[in-house]
Amino acid sequence: MIQFVSFLVESCPSAMQSGDSIPSFVEQKNAMYDSLIRKVLLFTLLAVVVAGTDVVSAQEKKEASNLMHLLIDCSKPSRGLIEATLQIPVAAAAKVGKISLWYPKWVPGSHGPGGPIANIAGLQIHGADGKRLKWRRAPGEVYRLEVEVPRGAKEVQVAVRYVVNQPTTTSFGHDCFFAGNIGVVSPSCLLLYPEGSDVDEQQIEVRVRPPAGWYVASALAKSNKGVKPEEELMFQPVTLRTLVDSPVMLGRCYRSFELVTNTSLSPPHTLHVFSDHKTAESISDEVVKKYAEMVRQASYLIGSHPFDRFDILLGVTDALPKNGLEHARSTFNVLPPSSLKSVTALKGWDRLLVPHEYLHAWCGKFRRPEGMLTSDFHTPKDTELLWVYEGLTQYLGELVEARSGLMTDEEFKNRLLVELRNAMNQQGRQWRTLADTAAASHILRGASPSWGGLRRSQDYYMEGMLFWLEADARIRHLTNGNKSLDDFCHSFFKSQRSVKQPAAFDRSEVVKQLHAVAPFDWDGLISRRIESFQQQFDPEVASLLGYSFEITNQKPKIPTNTFRQSSGVDLLDSLGVSFSSSGEVRNVLLDSPADKAMLAPRQMIVAVGDHKWSTDRMLSSVEQAVQGKPIKLLVSEHDRIKSVQIQYYGGLAYWNLTRDDSKEDWLSQILAARKK
Ligand SMILES: [Zn+2]
Repeated sequence: MIQFVSFLVESCPSAMQSGDSIPSFVEQKNAMYDSLIRKVLLFTLLAVVVAGTDVVSAQEKKEASNLMHLLIDCSKPSRGLIEATLQIPVAAAAKVGKISLWYPKWVPGSHGPGGPIANIAGLQIHGADGKRLKWRRAPGEVYRLEVEVPRGAKEVQVAVRYVVNQPTTTSFGHDCFFAGNIGVVSPSCLLLYPEGSDVDEQQIEVRVRPPAGWYVASALAKSNKGVKPEEELMFQPVTLRTLVDSPVMLGRCYRSFELVTNTSLSPPHTLHVFSDHKTAESISDEVVKKYAEMVRQASYLIGSHPFDRFDILLGVTDALPKNGLEHARSTFNVLPPSSLKSVTALKGWDRLLVPHEYLHAWCGKFRRPEGMLTSDFHTPKDTELLWVYEGLTQYLGELVEARSGLMTDEEFKNRLLVELRNAMNQQGRQWRTLADTAAASHILRGASPSWGGLRRSQDYYMEGMLFWLEADARIRHLTNGNKSLDDFCHSFFKSQRSVKQPAAFDRSEVVKQLHAVAPFDWDGLISRRIESFQQQFDPEVASLLGYSFEITNQKPKIPTNTFRQSSGVDLLDSLGVSFSSSGEVRNVLLDSPADKAMLAPRQMIVAVGDHKWSTDRMLSSVEQAVQGKPIKLLVSEHDRIKSVQIQYYGGLAYWNLTRDDSKEDWLSQILAARKK
């Protein structure tokens, strides 16, 4: 997951006729489906056709009796509600007259106990005979429901009503959204499962009732069966793990693109694009070509695939919040139309979303930290190895961005400078290790409005990325350029396309596999970089790459649309303070000149010297201080005004990253596109 928090923008485009937006090539695909379905909707995934048999084995009977059923009715999206019904076999547990049902609490990809149970707006449980059953919340555990059932009951039926479009900070990537002509349904929002179920064994059959005339895409395979094919889609039974891992995207305006031509290199990949307006150019051809190149470069980088096909679900709309989440055989992504109109328009967070979520198919979904691989959705997870799960994914995602041409080398260097500088200013490392930001991931998801550098954030993403970039540089040094982190990826992620379940790893395997590529004290490096308190960040990665990282009086020219580049007046490298363009104090470094002058986040600078606040006046006051002229500020704090004098005479100063010609330029070699 990589989160972008923004406000939901309501958008109500004019109504369209069903099928208006079907481009000709999609209509041709329609011929693959029966005529009844063709009239109603297009479903893009081919079902696997298996020869029927009249012989039903005892095992099949047992599995059928233990099969859960889920019907998701999202046919009236304008209501903002989804209705779902569940049939849950309970024969074993019902012997004692009481069962426990769980609502998914730790949803994969969210890294925290944040299943959006607060959005349930109706829940009734009935026995097979239609009698309503009493339930109560388990004391101290809001995700667990205790249900009284008749002794000998074989199943219960649960009716769930769910409110869409109100995600929590934790549920953003796995919630349900409907706005305009697009929707996404995350099945975990509508699921309850019996205590004791193993998510890799319990099978569930799902039907979806979409709005009339809407298209549907998912990594779930369509079933040949169909109770009401004119109204519903039925999917082949899957495990609970696969169901929760398979979001469904729906919409009125749809196009699809096949991204792979050589299936010996990569299995088939389909880009499913749902857009809000039938007339809008939802995504440019050049962006699609870059996504195809992304798939190819990922194949070269890693060498094998833990899936036999892949579906990239992409909502192109301003009506839904920018968002995304990783899955084993698909990704869910929402981006604004303005970003996808050309490669040059695709910048910052919007650009890294699709590659990041895609690379998770290997890192996080297939290879998963041992402590995060549980057999249910409520056992607490140990997230300390997120510096691998997210940190390595962040690195590989940005690497593939560069190698596919989505990002230029210059833009990658700007990103590197931004992250090195951010790391230098994260003073919370003095009391909290990087590993602790991973272990405490779910309490750090929201930004800290004040003193964020002291509290730290989910630093395992970006500082994790710096660790893996350093590992790449070290491997190249240690092997004289004969090996790289690509070799580690080839062995660490080696898989068959027939993989069905995640494979666990632990810290020792990471060390062992790095050592196998290039013998080195990887254990010691991980201990120093990830698991130790630090007085300050060690930027050694810069020199290992062939660059100098030093403070000069030149402000680096980093475009403002660079991901995580600060805006406003950033004087952290000199005064130890940053301001918004309107003069609000944003960040202060501990023990800096600004801190000693008692500046603090959320104060407002009213005046610089004898004049009203302006960004130019603030900058020139720092320049003039070189002549021994102190920096005088008038500061508003709640209902008080105070004057402040900052004792700093060093002039403007900024961290810069420059090429060191005396060293090998390893970074250029790292970023070079692979040909095989
Ligand atoms: Zn992620």
